[in-house]
Amino acid sequence: TVGDVIRGRFAPSPSGRMHLGNVFTALLAWLSVRAKGGTLVLRMEDLDPDRCREEYAQQLAEDLVWLGLTWDEGYGKSGPHGPYRQSERTDFYAGQFAALAAQELVYPCYCTRAQRLAASAPHRADGKLVYDGRCRHLSQEERRELDKTRRPAWRVAVPDEEIFFTDGHLGPYRERLDLDCGDFIIRRSDGVYAYQLAVVADDGAMEINEVVRGQDLLDSTPRQLFLYEKLGYRPPEFYHVPLLVDPDGRRLSKRDGDLDLGALKERFTAPEIVGRLAFLAGLTDAPEPAMPAELLPIFAWEKVPARDVTVDRTLWQKPRVP
Ligand code: GLU
Repeated sequence: TVGDVIRGRFAPSPSGRMHLGNVFTALLAWLSVRAKGGTLVLRMEDLDPDRCREEYAQQLAEDLVWLGLTWDEGYGKSGPHGPYRQSERTDFYAGQFAALAAQELVYPCYCTRAQRLAASAPHRADGKLVYDGRCRHLSQEERRELDKTRRPAWRVAVPDEEIFFTDGHLGPYRERLDLDCGDFIIRRSDGVYAYQLAVVADDGAMEINEVVRGQDLLDSTPRQLFLYEKLGYRPPEFYHVPLLVDPDGRRLSKRDGDLDLGALKERFTAPEIVGRLAFLAGLTDAPEPAMPAELLPIFAWEKVPARDVTVDRTLWQKPRVP
């Protein structure tokens, strides 16, 4: 992509307050794009109406501003690629879904959750489900009958070929979609378009050419690359950043309520949080306060650890000096 302006994005799900891991990822996304003089887009991934709330979206935007993680286009601002809330982009996803259906890549799946579990290859050591594709071969007749019993989910049929890409931070990565995940859902039975479809359609349409996100999404990337190709978008460069873990290796998450931004804000200033995260990211030798812009001259992907970063809780317990 030599010569292109870098376009990166924040793509948070407004299902609660940001936690430390989200802030860590957002900081690295911001630094990577800003260091190259690029543009940042904020898109709210609020597809799931049961989990997402507009007040969380507003809080997220406010928190990003407070942290100095600014964006140029998107939620709360304008831009040529809106709307920037996924909940307002359903018609667009319907068109993208139709484009896949027109290539005969999409089929209805009537399996219940219990059937899906039974229909999944049991051999995966990591416990991931590999759907065996049993609904792929239903006849029209069988589909008509099943349509009377339930609303189907919709799956995309994956090829039996290896998908390969080079992560900007981690290097080569390869996966066989048929063996490692199977045909995957792009629209749920309740009609909600799935993350995999929406994120590709949106990053494609919003001309995003750099995606920085957590390593929990690394194994979604081959599925997404497959969709990029079928939807006719040029895929972005991916940088999958390490997850923050406890000393026992457990991933930090929303359950660690003392590390969500609401709780952190009561103990620390923005530069104290950002400075500590920069230290965890390998950018500095000590957790000195810093704002994101001050880190730009020292940012380099080579300094950032490749795999899990262990969080020393004592670093995050300091009571704020009154
Ligand atoms: N919305 C997703 C999340 O908050 C991130 C999607 C992405 O970066 O691709 O986990």
